[in-house]
Amino acid sequence: MVKPDLQSLDDKLKRIQILDSISGLLGWDELVNLPPESSGQRAEQAAAIAEVCHHASTDPEIGDLLSNLELSLPEQELDAQIVIREARKDYDRNAKLPAAFVRRKARLDSAAYHAWAKARKESDFSLFAPYLQQQLDSAKEYADYLGWGENPYDCLIDLYDPGMDSESISSLFDSLKQELVPIVQQIFGSKYQNQNSSVFRGFPIEDQRAFLKDVTAAIGFDYQRGRIDVSLHPFCSGNGADTRMTTRFDENNPLDSLFSAIHETGHGLYEQGLPLDHLHTALGKAAGMGAHESQSRLWENQVCRSRAFWNRYEPEFRAKFGKQLSGISSDALYLAINNVSKNPIRVDSDEVTYNLHIIIRFEIEKQLFEGTLPVKDLPGAWNSRYKELLDIEPKNDAEGVLQDVHWSGGAFGYFPSYCLGNMLAAQLWYAALEQLPDLESDFEKGEFSRLLTWLQKNVHSQGKRYGLKSLTLRSTGEELSPKCLIRYLKNRYLPLYP
Ligand code: ZN
Repeated sequence: MVKPDLQSLDDKLKRIQILDSISGLLGWDELVNLPPESSGQRAEQAAAIAEVCHHASTDPEIGDLLSNLELSLPEQELDAQIVIREARKDYDRNAKLPAAFVRRKARLDSAAYHAWAKARKESDFSLFAPYLQQQLDSAKEYADYLGWGENPYDCLIDLYDPGMDSESISSLFDSLKQELVPIVQQIFGSKYQNQNSSVFRGFPIEDQRAFLKDVTAAIGFDYQRGRIDVSLHPFCSGNGADTRMTTRFDENNPLDSLFSAIHETGHGLYEQGLPLDHLHTALGKAAGMGAHESQSRLWENQVCRSRAFWNRYEPEFRAKFGKQLSGISSDALYLAINNVSKNPIRVDSDEVTYNLHIIIRFEIEKQLFEGTLPVKDLPGAWNSRYKELLDIEPKNDAEGVLQDVHWSGGAFGYFPSYCLGNMLAAQLWYAALEQLPDLESDFEKGEFSRLLTWLQKNVHSQGKRYGLKSLTLRSTGEELSPKCLIRYLKNRYLPLYP
């Protein structure tokens, strides 16, 4: 009975994946192409396909197939065991939630998003606070349906990074914070800090587009099964069969469009490196958000902000933008590429201070779930943490506690992934360097395939076999830790900011 059951499960998972990909395409189109007055119909299209997806993924026959297979599948069928383990998790996640809760949550998400957008526009947290409270209550209710051990917050963290929990993240972040705060203080005290804003003017968009397409193709993005477009906030969606990424352009900020495109390319390379025949099962899905972010950060930061990379690409950059770069020396350009500044906005911050932005959000989320920080006190707690860790005083709520969209959708537990991704990126970087010591000389030649192949073998091809901790241990030989991230940040930034 095992073989036919496996085949039936495979067919059903394939249909779910295809439906999800249609839903994803509608979402991509909404952010890239949708005419402004067409959003009403799109909302109905999205709701209709969401219902079809939900129906397919809660099909009771999947539950029966899983139960049969869990009893009968031989232990040595390792790959099939992984498929079943993850399909069970997904199925339970959908099937354990009462339909009334799902409907209520969808309505809340929409209302809370609009309340957040208005509150941010008017810079008034009190307009958003009641919705945030409801999202928090709803997140706890969600955790109750799925079941949790130590802390309902863990149930949400597990959604983004399987196997992680608030206790292990706390201990990683505490040691990172201890080492990172003095580094940030040294940089903020350097006379080289914040000298290079507004040196870039008038970079034609078409030339920027051509340059970033050359770079992202050289790194390895396959434009035969993917594309890059423009959206307000850059993102990467789709899968390895059809990868959709975006960037944004500003004539006076060519580095933003370039590094956004490279960042999304890192996500895209992960998707394109997952086993194409298994997109519908755990064998062809990403290990989690932290692993995903490790790929985007590694290409963006360790590789493309390096001296070696710019030794290769600076002449090309100058050939395209000779006039605009004429008064800017090589050193000034490199410093601008690795600019560290006191920025209150997470998405505009650099890779050094970024981690502290995340630690603040994690500590606040933890307190919200523990009940030690009432929602109404959030702006005060936010501002005092920013002052303490980054010496930044947000001018208002819009620049402070209201800046991110995540909490309006109840996406608690998502933020830590960004910083965990930074840790893994640095660990992968040093592990790759150990095995391929002359790796950086490849970049000087515009050659990236050895690194990409290494990542494909150690990370991409593994799919969702391992959670973040095991994936780190297997791919780098070390436990997940902030050690390599600190080593990398010191090496890269302290010489630039004496
Ligand atoms: Zn990312």
